[in-house]
Amino acid sequence: MTETIEAPAALRQINHWIGGRPVAGSSGRKGSVFNPAAGRQTGEVGFATPEEVDAAVQAAKAAFVTWREVSLAKRAEIFFRIRELVHERREEVAKILTSEHGKVLSDAMGEVTRGLEVIEFCCGIPTLLKSEFSEQASTGIDVYSIRQPLGVVAGITPFNFPAMVPMWMWAPAIACGNTFVLKPSEKDPSASIWMAELLKEAGLPDGVFNVVHGDKVAVDAVLEHPGIAAVSFVGSTPIARYVYEKATSTGKRCQALGGAKNHMIVLPDADVDMAADAAVSAAYGSAGERCMAVSQIVVKVGDGMDPTSEMGPLVTKEHRDKVASYVEGATAEGGKVLVDGREGAPDDGFFLKPSLIDDVKPGMKAYEDEIFGPVLGVTRVGTYDEAVQLVNDNPYGNGTAIFTRDGGAARQFQFDVQAGMVGINVPIPVPVAYYSFGGWKASLFGDRHIYGPEGIDFYTRGKVVTSRWPDPATSKVDLGFPQTR
Ligand code: NAD
Repeated sequence: MTETIEAPAALRQINHWIGGRPVAGSSGRKGSVFNPAAGRQTGEVGFATPEEVDAAVQAAKAAFVTWREVSLAKRAEIFFRIRELVHERREEVAKILTSEHGKVLSDAMGEVTRGLEVIEFCCGIPTLLKSEFSEQASTGIDVYSIRQPLGVVAGITPFNFPAMVPMWMWAPAIACGNTFVLKPSEKDPSASIWMAELLKEAGLPDGVFNVVHGDKVAVDAVLEHPGIAAVSFVGSTPIARYVYEKATSTGKRCQALGGAKNHMIVLPDADVDMAADAAVSAAYGSAGERCMAVSQIVVKVGDGMDPTSEMGPLVTKEHRDKVASYVEGATAEGGKVLVDGREGAPDDGFFLKPSLIDDVKPGMKAYEDEIFGPVLGVTRVGTYDEAVQLVNDNPYGNGTAIFTRDGGAARQFQFDVQAGMVGINVPIPVPVAYYSFGGWKASLFGDRHIYGPEGIDFYTRGKVVTSRWPDPATSKVDLGFPQTR
């Protein structure tokens, strides 16, 4: 019998997007893009050189001149069109997310919906940029404040939300009148190019939104570029710290959101069924690859495109193996592996089933590290105070949640806990788009949280105008320091 060997399917080439058109990478350095459910490479993405980053910045710089002059009414109109197009085509982009990241399609649709909320918030840009006015601050003098865009701003984003996190950045940045250069994760870069095409179709002028792919070389080129006024970053804590220090040392404004270790506190009076359901959803949704994942409790694991799958694969083989190592090492450190997700996971693709480890204690690797996978650890404490102490002693401070029927205890928790986002009987307290998202401690470097009102502040700077329209008849020379009269 003759054996037929299938020729490898052609790899999709993923381009940069500069000045309103796709640009093929020229560095010769490339990254592999996988379909994690199949465990095979499907695409190739060119890594940008500093010259390619500069080309994107120059395109954005040229577009800024005219984009900042576009009226608020017109900007709002374009955002309404973007909103309609993303909403109509949300399944298209969700499939791209599933095919490169691995999350199940319903979760990918959820990601797009949460990003869309930020775009909807930005449709209100005329109201969001309203400022203050003091008539007759002094005799004949009015004082008012205005907020103006910064210029060219950049976003550097992680692999776990390839559509939503970029939307948290580019939407407010562009609505405020800036132009934008996005450096998305090299692991799942296609959603950003889908977005670029859609923005062009919605009527956004060329050069207002640009995408350069790449690794540290591209990131460093962004951080060092004198033409970039501000950088938003979301990713792991070591890189967030690096980005913040380097960006601010070159005079840029920077918000850098890092990793997390989110604790869910279950008080004895909690509705245990509700708390258990919440823990399962929060810990294993998106295969635990969420910065708001509860990480410290059974699910059908399979290809995210299969509607019966509840949990997809991990993003790469290396990441799957790293997550599995925490389960492997837990017993030697004193933990009890109650459910071992390494058993029975599908062989093709980068799958792991959910794991549950009991008796996880501070000092154990499974406690200290952000595992970023479907592994839930249970830490037992004797009192409420001990539980709060655990959360507050943790270097991260992104999100946390308490499950209880006691309103007083919940209120005390909200008062005591050192984290930027708190859920009360809500496991993943990602704020709605008209509040801002951000953690404390090692989960955020910089002052301003992302999207919502703080996002608008981050992407604008204030100017205060003191104005007088004197009657020419009363004008005279006065060399003294201006005083109110
Ligand atoms: P990552 O830090 O590895 O990568 C983030 C970005 O930085 C990517 O664009 C990547 O290309 C770039 N990068 C990676 N290494 C770099 C280096 N040495 N120098 C310069 N740039 C570099 O993060 P990831 O693995 O893509 O994403 C997962 C992490 O993101 C988790 O830690 C998760 O908690 C965090 N995250 C945080 C939030 C939040 O809101 N705080 C949200 C989503 C994800």
